This record gives sequence, C-alpha cells and structure tokens, in this order.
Amino acid sequence: MKRDAANKYWDEELETLPREELEKRQLKDLKEIVQFAYDHAPYYKRTYDAAGLKPSDIHTLSDIQKFPFIDKKTQRDTQGVGSFLGELCAVPEEDVIFISTSSGSTGVPTMSPFTKQDFDEFQDTESRWFWQVGMRPNDRYVHALNFSLYVGGPDVIGAQNLGALCIWGGTLPSERLLFVLKTYQPTVIWTSPSYAWQLGEKALKSGINPKKDLNIKKIIVAGELGGSIEATRKAIEDLWGAEVYDFYGLSDIFGACAAMCEAKNGLHIAENHILVETVDVDTGKVLKPGEVGELVFTTLRKHARPLIRFRTGDVGWIDNTPCSCGRTHGRIHINGRKDDMFIVSAVNVFPSDIEAVIRELPGITGEYLIRVFEKDFTCKYSVEIEKNADNTALDEEVAAMVSGALKARIGVKPYSVTVHPDGELNTRSEHKAKRIIDERKGHGTSL
Ligand SMILES: [Zn+2]
Repeated sequence: MKRDAANKYWDEELETLPREELEKRQLKDLKEIVQFAYDHAPYYKRTYDAAGLKPSDIHTLSDIQKFPFIDKKTQRDTQGVGSFLGELCAVPEEDVIFISTSSGSTGVPTMSPFTKQDFDEFQDTESRWFWQVGMRPNDRYVHALNFSLYVGGPDVIGAQNLGALCIWGGTLPSERLLFVLKTYQPTVIWTSPSYAWQLGEKALKSGINPKKDLNIKKIIVAGELGGSIEATRKAIEDLWGAEVYDFYGLSDIFGACAAMCEAKNGLHIAENHILVETVDVDTGKVLKPGEVGELVFTTLRKHARPLIRFRTGDVGWIDNTPCSCGRTHGRIHINGRKDDMFIVSAVNVFPSDIEAVIRELPGITGEYLIRVFEKDFTCKYSVEIEKNADNTALDEEVAAMVSGALKARIGVKPYSVTVHPDGELNTRSEHKAKRIIDERKGHGTSL
C-alpha cells in the first residue's frame, strides 16, 4: 500500500482506534491465542490442566489474571524438550521461518521462533515505529545493530518495507561507520545510546563535526535505558544536532515492541500485539496503570511461540492517558531491569536514577561506574565519575557536588564518590556499556 508521506500515521485506523475498540480486538485475539496455545503447546496444556483452567474461562481481558505467569526460566526449562523448538512452541518446525536468540547475558540464551505471519506482522510493527518517528521513503537509514542471532537485526526490513534507502551497517568498526555517515549522508541511524554518544565523540576527535559534516536528523536508540533518561537523550541530541527516540524491544517478542512518538513522553506499545500488565515484583499482585511494577506481556498474535503472562524482568509503569500525538495505544515508561535494582536504606534505587543525575551535572563527562556492596550488613553504593579536562575545581569539591545531587534526587547518599580524570573510566564500549559492579554475595559481578 502506498502511503501519503504527509500522513503522520503508518496505519491510521489501527493507531487511533478508540480504546474500547482496541480492547475488543485484544479480547478476541486473547481468547484465540490462549486456545491455540492450549491446543498446540504441551507446556500450556499441562500447566492449565493442572490448575483447572480452561481457555474458555476468558470472558474479559482481566480474566487473564487467573492464568499463571511464565518467565525466562520457563523458557529455559522447556526449550529443546520434546522437539528442537521446545514445549512452548505451538507450530511444527516446517511452519517456522526464523529464530532469534537472547544474548544470554543473564544465563543460557533463549530462542524465539517466528512463523511467516509472525515475522511479517513483526516487520509491519517496526515500519509503524519508523514512520512514527518521522522516517519516510526519502530517508537514508543506517541500521547499526548486531545482525548475528539478535532479534533487532531484521528490523531493517521494516525500514525497507517503508521505502527508505537502507544500509545494513551492523556492528561496523567506528571508523568505517563514520566513513558511511560522511560519504552517504544518511539521515536516520539506530544504535545503542552509549554508542551514539561515543560515536559522536569519536567523530569530533577525528575532525568530523556531527552537526555540520553529517546529515543525521534522527537517532533511534534501544538496548539500554539512556533514551528514556531525559538528560542522556538531550546530551546525545546536542552532540549530533538530531532528535533522539527511544525504542524498547525484547528478544522474546519483537526487535521493538514499543517506541517513542514526537511527544517523547513514554513509549507507545503495540497493543494490537501485546497485552500489558504490571505486577508487584515480589507478590505478583496485579497493579493499576500508573503504579510501578514488573511489566508482564502476553503476545496476542504470535503463533510460533505464544507467550502468555510473560514476566519481562523490566520494571516500569503503564500510562493509558491520551497522548498529544493522537495515538490511542498506551505508553510504557521503563525504570530499569528488576535485577539491576538495589535497596539502600529502604529506598529502591535504579542505576537509571543515578545516570539521570550524573548526566545533568556540570563539569563532569557523564561517564560513571556504580559499585553496589554490603558494609556492616547493609547495602551501600559508591559512584565513580570523570571530571572534565577543563574543570579546575578540586576533586573533593566535585565529589561533594555529585554526592549532594544524588542525595537530593534519590534520597540516599552514595557511600563514596571517586573522581577520575577525563577518559580514565573504562566504561566506554561499542555495545552495552558495563556500568554496574555488584559485589554483594549471591549477585552477579557485573551487568
Ligand atoms: Zn504519542
């Protein structure tokens, strides 16, 4: 279908459906997918039978709350069982055309299969997000995400289907990527927020001014929280002279399940594909929109491997209030990974809260490293930062400023603040930056 480039919506009818209509559609798809999962995926049949649950028990959207959760562990325990695709899979292997896998950064990689229809609908959703941030057929787009096994790789097809000229950048070394940006003058790029920052800095160091010598107008970021932290987003926008939009994806579902619009106030989620709930992290109790909890997703249309009440491990909140862009699909706001949260003096602290403070303060580079540890049987955190090369303040003064700002914003002071010279913190990486070291017993060493 040829679209009018002046229309702000990719699929106007779908994106602006009155919520009542949207929820009607969700209910119809929910009933069908739960029945399909029960009929074809051995795990669901066994679990629901044991709990005395039937797909026909679903009469309203909230009836889903009667059904049990699944999580990463369920995926690991069931993959490879019975068949190559495992017990959550609901179609025969010949119907599967694509699999992606998670990075395995928190354990054994989990696999996500797609049927042809799943894959086409995935790409249509990605086209919708690209269109939403203003990509049009006259744009030149560089997809600078990993293509190996990663679910974000194929998102480039969504941009091609939209009609943009696509450059499959992948994870090129920075020098070659900068060559591409300078020579082909693309207008849109997608990468991680930390890499967007680094690439801009590298450009400047090699004599390329991103604002003048390059033509990037929009930067899509995902994979880390930075794009939803206003100070980080603004810093990248200022460096590039471009608009930055945050996307949120899950290896288990789509490369991007949710995306910012021009309002940049939360990320619209594809509610025609995903039923979102938030639940209390500890008790699993369902929360109301606006309350912060773990995001739980039910895929409404993925047939290869339906996920019913999948605990994402991400903490955030749902906002169903109308958005100024006119889209009716709800928005999610992400606070961080459940596993990254730590509790100091009864206060829940997310690394993103610390980043928001560090990125706003003057005279420091914005790079940081957080250590979480136990001292005298209580949890503490310390922060290491870098002072700008031209900052003449004493290290103690800088440390006191950072400590005071953290106390004011988060409510709990860091145990210590260590100040390093510009460029001395080893946190700049080409992929996900390592910024947290958890030294507590029973916790991972780094995330
Ligand atoms: Zn919006």
